[in-house]
Amino acid sequence: MSRNIRLLNATGLEKSSLESITVRVARALHCDVRLESYRPDLTRVLDPTRGQCHSGGLLKEMQDRFNGRGEPNERFAALVDVDLFIPVLTFVFGEAQLDGKYAVISTYRLKNEFYGIPADPGRLLERFEKEIVHEAGHVFGLLHCRNFECVMRSSTYVEEIDLKRNSLCSDCESIMERKME
Ligand SMILES: [Zn+2]
Ligand SMILES: [Zn+2]
Repeated sequence: MSRNIRLLNATGLEKSSLESITVRVARALHCDVRLESYRPDLTRVLDPTRGQCHSGGLLKEMQDRFNGRGEPNERFAALVDVDLFIPVLTFVFGEAQLDGKYAVISTYRLKNEFYGIPADPGRLLERFEKEIVHEAGHVFGLLHCRNFECVMRSSTYVEEIDLKRNSLCSDCESIMERKME
């Protein structure tokens, strides 16, 4: 069974950066990755009191849009630049359906500027790439990993993202191989 995922540029993110991320995500997950654009109506998932977008609502939007389309086993990850939340948490970097089809990842809290420090576009791309690989890993059925450097380690702060690699550890690699058999 071949593994593939479509990265959906959902808020007009810069295309050349996403193209390089696409190549690197494909390498990290050994899968086919395609970059496409997607224009969801984010006002439908915006919580006006919190001023944030409900990530679960966006996953639902994607489901409505893509269910029954595309190739069988195709997965979708929306890339956005808006602040995301789930009701029980202040914010999330992203959310995925475990062993499912859809994920969403945002650059919003990956930017240095959010923390009042000077912008670092290279660092931002690295963080974004790791979080995309992480959420895609969940979509492919991987749980959080305790291995310190593994991309599937859970991160609450950007500093934790910076400490991990952009790749799966050997344990996660073999779980993923078994799932794909
Ligand atoms: Zn996770
Ligand atoms: Zn791991």
